[in-house]
Amino acid sequence: MTAYPIDRIRADFPILGQQVRGKPLVYLDNAASAQKPNAVIDTLADFYRRDFANIHRSVHTLGERATARYEAARETVRQFLNAEAVEEIVFVRGTTEAINLVAQSWGRSNLREGDEILITAMEHHSNIVPWQLVCQQTGAVLKVAPIDAHGELLLEAFERLLTDRTRLVAVTHMSNALGTINPVKRLTAMAHAHGAKVLVDGAQAAPHLAVDVQALGCDFYAFSGHKVYGPTGIGAFYGRRGLLEAMPPWQGGGEMIRTVTFEKTEYADLPYKFEAGTPAIAEAVGLAAAIEYVQGIGLKAIAAHEHDLIRYATERAAEVPGLRLIGTARHKGAILSFVVDRVHPHDLGTFLDHYGIAVRAGHHCAMPVMDFFQVPATARASFGMYNTREEVDLLIYALKEIIKVFG
Ligand code: PLP
Repeated sequence: MTAYPIDRIRADFPILGQQVRGKPLVYLDNAASAQKPNAVIDTLADFYRRDFANIHRSVHTLGERATARYEAARETVRQFLNAEAVEEIVFVRGTTEAINLVAQSWGRSNLREGDEILITAMEHHSNIVPWQLVCQQTGAVLKVAPIDAHGELLLEAFERLLTDRTRLVAVTHMSNALGTINPVKRLTAMAHAHGAKVLVDGAQAAPHLAVDVQALGCDFYAFSGHKVYGPTGIGAFYGRRGLLEAMPPWQGGGEMIRTVTFEKTEYADLPYKFEAGTPAIAEAVGLAAAIEYVQGIGLKAIAAHEHDLIRYATERAAEVPGLRLIGTARHKGAILSFVVDRVHPHDLGTFLDHYGIAVRAGHHCAMPVMDFFQVPATARASFGMYNTREEVDLLIYALKEIIKVFG
């Protein structure tokens, strides 16, 4: 096995080379958003310098070039998720928009009063609120599968909550607040046995795990570009072709039509039916560059590297007096969420910044998770492909120093 090319990777991310408050930046806020490699930055700049125009509507050369790049990006996303067909890939702004699209388009046309949507107790607000909205609109009921003290989904309880009224299961592949990785393939099989469709929130999983929507068997899979080292404002979701074909458009406007008269509008084919208006063209091209960069390193190698980091960080966190981990699932990604006796997570975050260390402090858009663990917030160090054991050491050192001051 060749060694993980950590030095080369770090050199590819120019932002990492800087000092913050006189210290080398230690960026541990990857679950919120990941930094961008030169491959992405240069692709965006080059695209705007040479190839940019609006897409799908012009006969001129730049328009054709930009369209080709945008559609090539869709093919890159298809391969990334291993979807069967490119028509099953819809570009959106990100995971939140994808889930809202499915909730409003699929949900409003398929849910009736008394139908059930099953989510889990570890969902991000983006995988809770869109379902609450569609429940209010249709009379459907939201059910929540519980988790245990490690932050693992209780599978038996999950299965018991599946009924013949369950129409949809919406579950995160990996929790942003706890790091828990859910057995999505198994959950999907359980849901399908009850005739329910399955949407997977892949916002956290996509940067860290090789995703194969055909192997998972899910019906929808959403992710955000900015968390996979790509630009903001772009993401994509996979939808099973038959479902997408039957779904009405979510937004109306340019690009999503075939013909328009004042009496009747005929919609465009998949996936354009769901892409109203001028899309994030350069961002889609930048996302493809990010995916190609990640694939160049290899998701298996990245996952192994991050697994080593979280194991090491978990081990070393035990040395910090008064530190309690929130989220100790057996199968978890590289997220270390924690609280420390007598120090508020926001203070931890602020003081860590004095050491050049960027972590997130707050509820991580998962307030029900905070309620479950009876904490107002946690501090969260989340690792990416460019983080190192030395950075874990710096985090632990800084935490010990901060605690001395508060102690
Ligand atoms: N789902 C999970 C698990 C997340 O971690 C996030 C972002 O933090 C989202 C959904 C929402 O992603 P976005 O803000 O890119 O739409």
